[in-house]
Amino acid sequence: MSLSELTLTQAREKLKKRECSAVELTRALLERIDRLEPQIGAYINVFPERALAQAERADQRLARGEEGLLTGIPLAVKDVISTRGLPTTCASRMLARYRPPYDAAVITRLEEEGYVLLGKANLDEFAMGSSTENSALQTTRNPWDKEAVPGGSSGGSAAAVAAAECLGALGSDTGGSVRQPAAHCGVVGLKPTYGRVSRFGLVAYASSLDQIGPLSKTVADSALLLQAIAGHDFRDSTSAPRAVPDYLKELERGVRGLRLGLPREYFIKEGMDSEVEAAVRGAVKHLEGLGAECLEISLPHTPYAIAVYYIIAMAEASSNLARYDGVKYGFREAESRGLLEMYQKTRSQGFGPEVIRRIMLGTYVLSAGYYDAYYRKASQVRTLIIRDFQEAFEKVDLLLTPVAPTPAFRQGEKTADPLQMYLTDIFTISANLAGIPGIALPCGFSAGGLPIGFQILGNYFEEVRLLQAARAFEQATDYHLRRPNL
Ligand code: GLN
Repeated sequence: MSLSELTLTQAREKLKKRECSAVELTRALLERIDRLEPQIGAYINVFPERALAQAERADQRLARGEEGLLTGIPLAVKDVISTRGLPTTCASRMLARYRPPYDAAVITRLEEEGYVLLGKANLDEFAMGSSTENSALQTTRNPWDKEAVPGGSSGGSAAAVAAAECLGALGSDTGGSVRQPAAHCGVVGLKPTYGRVSRFGLVAYASSLDQIGPLSKTVADSALLLQAIAGHDFRDSTSAPRAVPDYLKELERGVRGLRLGLPREYFIKEGMDSEVEAAVRGAVKHLEGLGAECLEISLPHTPYAIAVYYIIAMAEASSNLARYDGVKYGFREAESRGLLEMYQKTRSQGFGPEVIRRIMLGTYVLSAGYYDAYYRKASQVRTLIIRDFQEAFEKVDLLLTPVAPTPAFRQGEKTADPLQMYLTDIFTISANLAGIPGIALPCGFSAGGLPIGFQILGNYFEEVRLLQAARAFEQATDYHLRRPNL
């Protein structure tokens, strides 16, 4: 097996036993990146020299026997997470040449654990989208089928993991952007509980929904990455001052005796691909076979989730993106007469069409005349969605659902109709509205050879249980072992 094909857990073992060095491992991945990037386009920027220097330091650390959780492990990071002195573009013209003067909290943590940063991964501009097609900088292709999208917005991170162009990656999930691309690329994606991971240095899209999460080949790798990045941070006042459990130690507990709820509203026929439904039902059967008890439950406010999400996300986005005005940092259109024209030209040329659409709609729903009708109403319905979950978790331990209604769609298939694109988020956005954790993992393939994933949702801070159930499923199946032919 070549080094790039290793799981993160296997690579860690090899490094520990000195069966390979961090430099060798990093070289193997850089070579694979060189070979595959022309077809995949997962990375916006790759940092070969820097990565090799980091790997050398990791080898020294390993030699001293002082390794951390990720010493010498080469990773990709979504380009919406700030890296000091390195481009952090958000896949936008607005920040194409921006280099932050500080590291995101998760980057500091990864550094402490000794990781190697291979490069920054492509995304939908400012993480707004479900296919990575809104990137203003480049196209990312699905490693399983180059005509298909990788999903989004963390499509670069998911494609890089699936194509073995890194051993794991970080993404961000505002409405499904870790879980959905993970499902479309046949890898594991975890959105932690809101507040579990610091958002300090994550470029804000919708602050009450955003959360950073890992993408990886296996559930154990996901647990390891979460272990490295979770925890309180005084610089993010919404991060939770709660102890971080040992995710790896508790991983093997299985699902025997757990009650799994199947939300009726997530198994609707309309718009749902029959292969996806069959694969998810298959996963349910499997978990029952492993000793879980499955029962149907209801999350009655699910039909309102898309409308609520897009009002709240756009409102918050319009406020968060006001900072890109050509004055403070980022792109500025120099050919302007006066301040107002400079603002107008900078913002209309710096942002792509989807970002502009969201800023305009977000401004509208927050405006004095419409605030009550849209933003306030959406916030009220959000509370009802939260209650749905609270009631469900009184009856069951975990929820089991599809991740997306279809496997990855074709490049260009939905770009002309934003509403069609928004509708594909139906199964992932409620977890963000409620702030609960969710994990997506592979459970099948379409006849066309595209991966299909399913989702496990848990109550607040129950990542341990989520990972246990996902691990039990993964151990009993071999979907995660299949790799695209590249
Ligand atoms: N597709 C959703 C959106 O466009 C979610 C994106 C995300 O999670 N960042 O807002």
